[in-house]
Amino acid sequence: MKMNIALVPGDGIGPEIIAEAVKVLEKVGEVYGHEFCFDHLIAGGASIDLNGVPLTEETINRAKAADAVMLGAVGGPKWDNEPGPNRPERALLGLRSSLGLFCNLRPAIIYPELSEASPLKSEVVANGIDIMVVRELTGGIYFGEKGRKDDAAYDVMYYSRPEIERISKKAFDAAMLRDKHVTVVDKANVLESSRLWREVTKEVAASYPEVTLDYMYVDNAAMQLVKNPGQFDVVLTENMFGDILSDEASMITGSIGMLPSASLREDKFGMYEPIHGSAPDIAGKGISNPIATILSAAMMLRYTFSLEKEADAIERAVKEALRDGLRTMDIKKNDEKASSTEEAGLEIVRRIR
Ligand code: NAD
Repeated sequence: MKMNIALVPGDGIGPEIIAEAVKVLEKVGEVYGHEFCFDHLIAGGASIDLNGVPLTEETINRAKAADAVMLGAVGGPKWDNEPGPNRPERALLGLRSSLGLFCNLRPAIIYPELSEASPLKSEVVANGIDIMVVRELTGGIYFGEKGRKDDAAYDVMYYSRPEIERISKKAFDAAMLRDKHVTVVDKANVLESSRLWREVTKEVAASYPEVTLDYMYVDNAAMQLVKNPGQFDVVLTENMFGDILSDEASMITGSIGMLPSASLREDKFGMYEPIHGSAPDIAGKGISNPIATILSAAMMLRYTFSLEKEADAIERAVKEALRDGLRTMDIKKNDEKASSTEEAGLEIVRRIR
């Protein structure tokens, strides 16, 4: 199978972490007989330096022509004084909206080997945590009508049935590849839009008889995430609740350098990136953790290319490397030796089989 991947390394540590993900993909290609073709694109601060703007039409068009996009991170102090519309981060928003990505998948994983990094009590996370937050990305209160009237202001939370249906299918599809449990997080005791979410998710669930569906109010979900995170598999929610809960879920893992993400649309196309930023404080030192980006590559194989075995092989290699003691600077304990970005990549490549 031949796959066309647009690579957008971006700024700061972006290029170094993307380089390690490419090595992992190349090893997967070798072991499983696939061909990955990479198109290197420029966006963010690098594009401001070269083209005067964070995102060009050419980058958008070449990203659209690919089967999937892998992004490192954008931004850094060099461009902090750029005016709002020309800031490097606009490249992300520009790519997401021009590619029509409405579904954000954010796994929050605590590996038992790294449970000490979590701010939660060890007995709460002793068995590891593996939650997938599925957040609607292009609707809801952030995009509804907004305005001012006299001395008041309003933002409308608006959702249509098709918008809820398409994101729900993504969540149930994801659940089918996991523990087959979806929790819809809403505020159905007060919000009419949440009551529509309940109706539609119930209808979508009928096509997935193997998946257990339950509902939880968002205030309770915020508590349960720290009290008993092990109860969650897939958390499906609207844009604003998802914004808040996905950050909460990633913070309980305590390791920002480890968390991948995917943004998807109705077909198989997706954009895959670590949740962290360009880490300008450590850029160029060769000490960044490439695991979030490598796990984003695994998500790409699973969600865009339906290569489940190959995605599993990457995730297994990461787990084995951690079990065998791989620690980059951000996840090591005081007395442990830290691996460089390249050494970490190599340890994972070696374990792909
Ligand atoms: P950040 O995620 O870049 O860094 C926060 C802290 O985590 C830093 O101490 C950093 O060294 C550490 N860190 C992050 N990723 C790491 C990794 N892979 N390995 C080891 N340590 C890691 O967040 P920030 O400092 O708030 O932002 C820096 C720049 O990145 C800003 O310009 C910001 O706008 C941008 N940013 C970009 C994205 C993106 O491209 N998706 C996301 C967030 C922030």
